[in-house]
Amino acid sequence: MIVMKFGGSSVESAAAIERVAGIVKSRAHCRPVVVVSAMGKTTNRLLAIAQTSMTGTREDYLAQIHDLRDFHSREARQVVPLGNRAALDRTLDEHFQELTELMKGLAVLGELTPRSIDAISSYGERLSSLIVAMAFEHFGLLTTHVDSRRMIVTDRRHTQAAPIYEETYRRLKETIPKLAAEAVVVMGGFIASTEDGVTSTLGRGGSDFTASIVGAGIDAEEIQIWTDVDGMLTADPTLFPGGHRVKTISFAEAAELAYFGAKVLHPATVVPAVEKNIPVLILNSRRPRSTGTRIVAEAVACKNVVKSIACKRNITLVNIHSTRMLMVHGFLHRIFEIFDRLQTPVDMVATSEVSVSLTIDSTANLAAVVAELETFSDVNIEPDQAIVCLVGDNIRYTPGVAIRVFRAVDTVNVRMISQGASLLNLSFVVADADLRQTVAALHGEFFSEIDPEVFD
Ligand code: ADP
Ligand code: ASP
Ligand code: MG
Repeated sequence: MIVMKFGGSSVESAAAIERVAGIVKSRAHCRPVVVVSAMGKTTNRLLAIAQTSMTGTREDYLAQIHDLRDFHSREARQVVPLGNRAALDRTLDEHFQELTELMKGLAVLGELTPRSIDAISSYGERLSSLIVAMAFEHFGLLTTHVDSRRMIVTDRRHTQAAPIYEETYRRLKETIPKLAAEAVVVMGGFIASTEDGVTSTLGRGGSDFTASIVGAGIDAEEIQIWTDVDGMLTADPTLFPGGHRVKTISFAEAAELAYFGAKVLHPATVVPAVEKNIPVLILNSRRPRSTGTRIVAEAVACKNVVKSIACKRNITLVNIHSTRMLMVHGFLHRIFEIFDRLQTPVDMVATSEVSVSLTIDSTANLAAVVAELETFSDVNIEPDQAIVCLVGDNIRYTPGVAIRVFRAVDTVNVRMISQGASLLNLSFVVADADLRQTVAALHGEFFSEIDPEVFD
């Protein structure tokens, strides 16, 4: 068995779904279990509808729901066999009616909880998986649909839920291999449910994570992540278009890149794969012959010191100065206790004699954090920053990497530096306005010559 996950852009239209059917057909002998994301930008649209139900008029959100139904109906009708059109319409009616009722209820209550956000955003994958399953029949694949919410069990941390592995693996093992022996199994990514059966989700971009949970649960030979780029590239293509494909990379390197912003992979994806030592491949659904990126346990020998440059944007820098002359015993503990209690994860940290600088991603509770910090320190906030992170297994063995980095970006004001925490990364903070220039300079420095065994 193999797991094949197709992201939003790989199932965004009738033509895209037809391409996916072709790719799955060519690998039918591997007994594929297919995991799909919501079609195109559906998750964003669902969340926008939820916002409108809070702040807009009833006509506004009803119109948005209507548009989303039209989009699904238009694309799906072109890939669902004639005989199944009535079933398709029934499925769409049921789901969109439920969604409308849900929105009406929320508009009355005027409150959007993490639990209701999960209920709403789940419709994307619930619909896409049903549509793709019907489409596969149309393209001649014997197919079974499985509702992921019956398989993937999570804790109750809605919008960011963590799988309860033992129970999830038990359910997957009991159900999926039997079905996959007879037909192509199609499941939605991202969606799950709590032990009490309430719909939850694994966080934005979580379909990659679903794929690896399923892969580990059924002991798949391979987990394939099909997306819209040729694989892991040496830089984020939206910031620097001239990057090279990384042909092979280790689990540890890929995890670090994902954590520091390489959106191509959800950061938790490698966790189940590492545990079962299942290779993860990143492949392009528009260019299925390209061999993509292979993520495996051990990094292969590489002449380049850096494998890729990741960036995390919309970062806020928080500078905290102790109001006493020195940092007293317990100062750091007090600071981190506040961030922890107010559920604000910290990415990078630097300390000096009297101050601490750190970066955060989510500013939802920042005002409350600052109010508490100010009871014993001076706080200064700098928004619109970015973390740049160079990742490579060789960084730990190679002297002089820092000199090359900071010489390359010598015209940029570097706000904060971190190296050593993981051995395979060097990261620093710059103003978002300087980001493109920084990535271009680093790419020139580290990838003007490439090891053909590892890059192309
Ligand atoms: P999917 O919908 O298939 O899950 P995503 O949009 O989540 O696709 O991830 C793919 C995108 O990740 C690419 O289109 C690219 O813009 C972005 N990306 C960021 N960093 C990298 C990188 N280092 N290599 C490849 N893609 C990257
Ligand atoms: N549809 C979800 C999202 O947009 C999950 C995914 O695509 O991986 O975040
Ligand atoms: Mg994704």
